[in-house]
Amino acid sequence: MLMLLKLLKDGRFHSGQALGAALGVSRSAVWKQLQQLEAELNLPIHKVRGRGYQLAAPLSLLDQEAIAQASSGECWPPLIFDSIDSTNAEALRAIERGHAAPFLVLAERQSAGRGRRGRKWVSPFAENLYYSLVLRIDGGMRQLEGLSLVVGLAVMQALREQGVAEAGLKWPNDVLVGTRKIAGILLELVGDPADVCHVVLGVGINVNMQATTEVDQDWTSVRLVTGKAVDRNHLVARLNSTLQYYLARHRESGFEAIQPEWEQNHLWQGRAVSLIAGASQVDGIVLGIDQQGALRLKVGEVEKHFSGGELSLRLRDDS
Ligand code: ATP
Repeated sequence: MLMLLKLLKDGRFHSGQALGAALGVSRSAVWKQLQQLEAELNLPIHKVRGRGYQLAAPLSLLDQEAIAQASSGECWPPLIFDSIDSTNAEALRAIERGHAAPFLVLAERQSAGRGRRGRKWVSPFAENLYYSLVLRIDGGMRQLEGLSLVVGLAVMQALREQGVAEAGLKWPNDVLVGTRKIAGILLELVGDPADVCHVVLGVGINVNMQATTEVDQDWTSVRLVTGKAVDRNHLVARLNSTLQYYLARHRESGFEAIQPEWEQNHLWQGRAVSLIAGASQVDGIVLGIDQQGALRLKVGEVEKHFSGGELSLRLRDDS
């Protein structure tokens, strides 16, 4: 089925006969595969008598060569999948298999893309970026400090380069445009953080997605903000580059060197929020983050610091 998609990706008309010949199958087999493409990948295909078949819009697929060409610096070797349960899950399996880090896992779609605490990341085919970078960390708890916040800055920067000037951060791990979520980050760790461990830096960015009924909160995409379709291979190269820049700063100078920049880009500074941890809730005013990346909240008259993967921040209705 994906071979057929690759033949159609130029957005031009192709006759059933030519497609069948290229794939070595009958015209009716081509027809069946087209139905499957439409149904499974939600790709509209124009069928015009006498001319053949055409994708409603040309598709640019992820491609290692194109990423390398768009890259100016180091290019982490990518494993590219047409479809995978989750790029983070595949990254964890690759670590288990002994695949040497650093490396990237990219996919055209995720069938079980994940957010924090088992939540779902909506991941339609060939529209967005589903990106997991695997790093090996040797004996450096300090190298893990604030790491997901550092990734957020790198994602925000890559988005601004694409023209999303208003991209900003929401503690701990979202990138928003105003109130709309454009990217999410999920870090997963295996091994012993005090000795040798691997960390998977998972990033989902809404790139060319223009419609979905599946996301249950406000969202947007680069294309919706800028009005322009984005070449995802180019975006992978740019994200590699902004990540390299921020990860090097983090490695050399620690999170405290990055903390002021993160705070400057925090959209919810000074806002009245509720911090939710399971069934319990703390209300306060966002003061910022500390040098370890923990949230600083003014609760009553007292400054309190909060950290941990189970925490969610919500704006209070009265803020
Ligand atoms: P938190 O404030 O705890 O981070 P969150 O709701 O942003 O809360 P995440 O785990 O970061 O949670 O992300 C998962 C959530 O993001 C989903 O529950 C869904 O509401 C939303 N979501 C899922 N897919 C997308 C997408 N492609 N774009 C934007 N938002 C999405």
